[in-house]
Amino acid sequence: MTTAAPQVKEARPEDGTGPVLEVSGLGVHYGRGRKRRRALHDVTLDIAPGEAVGVIGETGSGKSTLARAVLGLVPASSGSVRIAGEEVSAYGSRRWRALRRRGVVQYVFQDPLRSLDPDLTIEESLAEPLLIQGVPRTEAALRARSFLDRVHLAPDLLARLPGELSGGQRQRVAVARALVTEPRLVILDEPVSALDSANRVQVLEILKDLRSSGVALVLISHDLGSVAGTADRIAVLYRGELVETGTADDVVRRPRHPYTRLLLGSAPTLRGRPADRAEREALRAQLDA
Ligand code: ADP
Ligand code: MG
Repeated sequence: MTTAAPQVKEARPEDGTGPVLEVSGLGVHYGRGRKRRRALHDVTLDIAPGEAVGVIGETGSGKSTLARAVLGLVPASSGSVRIAGEEVSAYGSRRWRALRRRGVVQYVFQDPLRSLDPDLTIEESLAEPLLIQGVPRTEAALRARSFLDRVHLAPDLLARLPGELSGGQRQRVAVARALVTEPRLVILDEPVSALDSANRVQVLEILKDLRSSGVALVLISHDLGSVAGTADRIAVLYRGELVETGTADDVVRRPRHPYTRLLLGSAPTLRGRPADRAEREALRAQLDA
């Protein structure tokens, strides 16, 4: 005789083999009363150690909301979030601060200017998360230098201010800063959207290299084409719901949902040719049906 599987997920000892992120039935609403609007509905997504997952969807589909809810920056209205086995959905601001300070999960903001303090030198910016953890100053400086090297930037940038760097260099510093605490998970919100194509390729190459270091990445983008080559898996968000999740290869070659097909139609580099107008209208009609 077999016993029924328990309905509630059992707490798992954190031995580093379980998912680094477990999002289950997550819902988020903004506003109150009559202004209350659903931004995320019933989102379920697991991320394994070292995995790179692309979260794709058009502007307003809820990508940044998902990132913010995972990081405790907006409250969830339903569902749960576990980071490295720790149930964080009910955390108050103090426990969140403690978790962030431990540097298990890091976030690179959508706006590259917001990720770096304009008044801190690059060295100070890179060392700061370590100093907060109590790492001695000399060791923090050494690590700042080595992480700058990981994103292929020269040490002479350490003494500069963010305003003295190009957009591409700044974004690479933001990535280095997110990595310096050796997190298990880094969520990058539109990491290449503000970059020109040469810098985009470089940053994506760096992110690709990182996968071998064991850190899990969430790559948020409105452009399927820009992350398809870097992500292992792709999750497609449409109006706050995950409509499709699969390996990057499956999603690109065998998209199941009409919305994914529509996104592919606007990524000509993946398809060989862009979708024509009639094709797009037919897909839109399926979505609205
Ligand atoms: P994306 O990052 O995919 O462009 P967002 O997560 O920023 O999408 O937004 C999802 C939806 O939630 C949108 O309809 C947006 O207008 C709304 N929204 C986002 N942030 C807020 C907020 N702070 N207050 C109210 N509505 C918001
Ligand atoms: Mg966004």
